[in-house]
Amino acid sequence: MSRYFFKRLRDEFRRRLPFDRALLKGYSLPPLRIDIELTHNCNLKCTMCSFVDGNEINKYFSNPKRSKHESAEEFPSIKRWKRFIDDISSFNPTINLSGGEPLIYPHLWELLDLLKEKRFITTMTTNASLITEDVAEKLIRSDIDALVISIDGDRETHDRIRGVDGSFDKALQGIKNIKAVKTALASKTPRLVINSTISWENYSDLSFVKKLFAEIRPYKWNISHLFLGNGDMALKDLSVLYNERDDIKPLKDIYGRIDTAALGKEIRVLRSASLPISFLPSIEGEKLKTFYEDPAKTLRNKCSYPYFSVGIQGDGTIITCMYTPMGTIDDDFRSIWNSDRYKEFRQMLNGKLFSKCSRCCGLYE
Ligand code: SF4
Ligand code: SF4
Repeated sequence: MSRYFFKRLRDEFRRRLPFDRALLKGYSLPPLRIDIELTHNCNLKCTMCSFVDGNEINKYFSNPKRSKHESAEEFPSIKRWKRFIDDISSFNPTINLSGGEPLIYPHLWELLDLLKEKRFITTMTTNASLITEDVAEKLIRSDIDALVISIDGDRETHDRIRGVDGSFDKALQGIKNIKAVKTALASKTPRLVINSTISWENYSDLSFVKKLFAEIRPYKWNISHLFLGNGDMALKDLSVLYNERDDIKPLKDIYGRIDTAALGKEIRVLRSASLPISFLPSIEGEKLKTFYEDPAKTLRNKCSYPYFSVGIQGDGTIITCMYTPMGTIDDDFRSIWNSDRYKEFRQMLNGKLFSKCSRCCGLYE
């Protein structure tokens, strides 16, 4: 309880009073959250995933590094992770493990042990299809605080989006396994958070959320609008990114498949349900129309993400939100976080957002 309370208090204080952004010329206090994309490999093949080689999203919105299959030798050893975790422990960030599918990461359990030792608040984003009873027990014993599980429709829609028959039933079974083991071990954690991503495949019928809510009883349910960035941009010089939007045609094609009147209706029904359902971003009416019909236009003009969060790739590269490599987990983290390059990057954002920012989830966090 107190572990959550004091961390939340500290994090809220930083978010509400971002004096470093206002005053310190790109210098930032340590990040509140570290997102580790443990692997880009996955057992599913979702239609809207930039890691899935060959789908149209991957074609337009990924870069070669993100979409290639990684072999076990490319992942850092647990010794390298241990050094990194010791290095960051003094500022106690929340750690979010994602992928690809984190449950297929070869060093997952040893890494979770290290995180547990430091008492970090740890969350994991998973498709849940690999959570057998045995895996559920290991997750609960690892003291993971929350699991964010993706469910994008009823059985038929979810399987179509995920690209693999049977993935809905497996995800639901995974959730049941977690709940059963939590009860057996009298554990309050992990909290179950369900995430649904709106796409051209499901926007016209979100009734599955209410139906499944009664069955799953999650801690909360997040509905995320469609976010797409252009991965290729990470390979370009940052200064080019201010004005260039060479991916605008595919963005328009893909967002244009969503009828905002039909989606708006679905959102209103869910909002009236009095359930803990949140939307990222929380938009209706004209803003919803702009989001899908004019994807080059940003709905906010400032982003604090590079002051609060940092990403790490499966090979140990430390990256900005633009996928710009800044260092590795073998470097001294604080020197990387406030290197001249990182400070220059943050200062550029004080001027105006990058073109890629318009449909990036970080802008709305
Ligand atoms: S489960 Fe996640 S990582 Fe795997 S293909 Fe789907 S969206 Fe991509
Ligand atoms: S919106 Fe924020 S998090 Fe996203 S790319 Fe732009 S600066 Fe980074």
